[in-house]
Amino acid sequence: MDFLIDFTVWFLESSRQSIGTIAKIEATRYFIATLVVFTLVWIVFEGVLKSRKLGRPNSRRPDARFRQVRREIFYSISTVLVYMFMSIFLFQGATEGVFKFYADPDKYGPIYKYGSFVLLLLFHDAYFYWSHRAMHHPRLFKWTHAVHHRTKDPTPFTAYAFAPAEAAINYMVVPLYALVLPLHDMTTVWFLWFMIFRNAMAHAGYELMPHGWARHPILGLNSSVTHHHMHHERMTGNYGFYFTFWDRLMGTEHKDYLDRVDEITSRGRKMKDRRVEEAGMEPADSAPSPVGG
Ligand SMILES: [Zn+2]
Ligand SMILES: [Zn+2]
Repeated sequence: MDFLIDFTVWFLESSRQSIGTIAKIEATRYFIATLVVFTLVWIVFEGVLKSRKLGRPNSRRPDARFRQVRREIFYSISTVLVYMFMSIFLFQGATEGVFKFYADPDKYGPIYKYGSFVLLLLFHDAYFYWSHRAMHHPRLFKWTHAVHHRTKDPTPFTAYAFAPAEAAINYMVVPLYALVLPLHDMTTVWFLWFMIFRNAMAHAGYELMPHGWARHPILGLNSSVTHHHMHHERMTGNYGFYFTFWDRLMGTEHKDYLDRVDEITSRGRKMKDRRVEEAGMEPADSAPSPVGG
C-alpha cells in the first residue's frame, strides 16, 4: 500500500514537471503531420496525383471513408495519450540518468550528433520490421496489431491508428536506443518529427515515388507508399518501414511489388497518350522528330 502511495506521489510530481514539454512534443506531432500530408496529397496536388491513387477511387463510398477516418483519429488520440503517459517515465528516467540524453552539442562532437540520426533510423527500421512481424503472430495479433489492420485502404490519418499495446511497443524505439547510446536532445526532436511525417507519407494512399526509382539499386531501398499499402491490402508481406532491405533479406517482399509500382507510376503517362490518341494525334513518344526522320 505504501508503495502505491509513493508511486502515485512520484508520478504526479513527475507529470507536473514534464507535462508542458510532453504536450508540446506528443500532442501536436500527429495532428500537424497528418493534416499537412493530407492537405498536400489529398487536396492541393490531388489533380496531379489522381492517376497514382492506390486502392479505391475517392469518389466511392464517402460515408465508409468518413467512418474509417473517424475511427483512425479516435485510435490516434488514444495513441497520443499512451505516448504522453510513457513520456512521463522517459523524462523522469532522463533526469535520473537512466537514459543517455544530452544537451551539450560538443559533448560527442557534430559527427556523432548528426550520425546518431542515421543510427537511430537504421535501428528503428530493424526494430519496426521485427516487432511488426512478431505482432503478426496469431497469439499477439488480436491484442496489438489488429486495430491498425482494420484499414485496408490507408489515409494519412492511419499513421497512429494503433491499439494501446501496439502504441506502447512502437513508442519504445527512442527509449531503447537512449538506454544504450547517447542521444542529443535536438536529434531526438528532429527524429520524432521525421518519423511521424514518414509514417503519414507511408499511408498517403497515393504513390509519391518517381517512375523508375523502385527498380534502382540504391533509390529502390527507400520504401514506397505502394510497399506499405500492399501490406494493408494483403495483411502479410512487406513488413518494413523506411527501407526495403529487411524484406528483401528475409524474403518477405511481395513478388509483384516492383510490377505494381511500375504500373502505378506509368498510369499518368498511359492516360495522357490515350487522350492524345483519342484526339486523333500521335502519342508524344511516336511523334516525328523535328530534326529530320
Ligand atoms: Zn500501416
Ligand atoms: Zn501489419
